[in-house]
Amino acid sequence: MRNSLRYSAFPIPVPEISFSDDNVAIYEKSKLESLPLGLEEQKIINRGVETLSATSTGKPLVDFLKKEGVEIRWKNLSLINSEPNYAEACPPSECSGKKVVYLNNMNRAYIDLFLDANPTFLAVTLAHELSHLADFKNIGEPKKGTSGELYLELNGCSTGVYIYHQLANVHIAPNPKVENKDIQLIRLHLAIRDYVNGGKRPMANDFPFIKGLSGLGFDDYINKVTGQQRKGSMSLAGVVELTYNFDDRLENPVKPASYDYAGLQEYGKYEKLSKSLGLRTADYLHWKEANNISAPNSQSDDNDSSDPGGYQDGPGVDGGGDGSGYDPHFQDGI
Ligand SMILES: [Zn+2]
Repeated sequence: MRNSLRYSAFPIPVPEISFSDDNVAIYEKSKLESLPLGLEEQKIINRGVETLSATSTGKPLVDFLKKEGVEIRWKNLSLINSEPNYAEACPPSECSGKKVVYLNNMNRAYIDLFLDANPTFLAVTLAHELSHLADFKNIGEPKKGTSGELYLELNGCSTGVYIYHQLANVHIAPNPKVENKDIQLIRLHLAIRDYVNGGKRPMANDFPFIKGLSGLGFDDYINKVTGQQRKGSMSLAGVVELTYNFDDRLENPVKPASYDYAGLQEYGKYEKLSKSLGLRTADYLHWKEANNISAPNSQSDDNDSSDPGGYQDGPGVDGGGDGSGYDPHFQDGI
């Protein structure tokens, strides 16, 4: 999970290393590369996992975590696009086949980043990374800078936002008065999602911690990430592209020629990752429907539930052409 949020980093204490013996040096190096959670930290993580498990989008991810024995460890994660990186899922090819989520050791000194007010931010962060690990297992690891990677990140980011919404709906997520800036950014992403699906435009006053993002002021940022009017499962594509520096042309890749075996392999991953995103979005919209959460535009006006003009917030998920009830680009309310 990379994030476009800025905060000042504290200096991280670096453990002393003895190089008196090769084996010790190797052992110490591996410790530097990643570190296990402390006992108290494990309890904190368990709280985040429990919180995640209480959401309909998060439950299957927690089942995955338990079934696959996903390990959560600390690691010093480098900046990406000059922005801090809260956590990363280790591609199994780089982790001896193991499934590992790294939390950024740089944040360890102030673990309350993950705890402030309640475990919402931790739950959302874990969900993002678990979504990656599940996609790696089911689909494979997309190459860097490909459409597959864009959809992988879009799935991770959208999953976090869906979970935030589910937690906020039962008052588990902190309300705006007590939230921290990390949570506020996720709430902003949900507001952007609602906006592009017909809700009201996010206003700077409602997000006092978010002064600017990705080098843009609040309104310029909103214009930039919503300019292309993407909807439904693609609602957050603008956010993800700006945060991760993806070219928007990756959204609709051209299918490679039949002799381009490597290209076709990556194209196949893109198709499956896009489907994975569509399925998770369909689950989210089912949750909204089951909880009577109306479409954004009917919330934004003063009509009551009899509002005949309000769009039904449903994707028509039974209408998929492939029999799976899925359409990767379905739109909310249409
Ligand atoms: Zn990610």
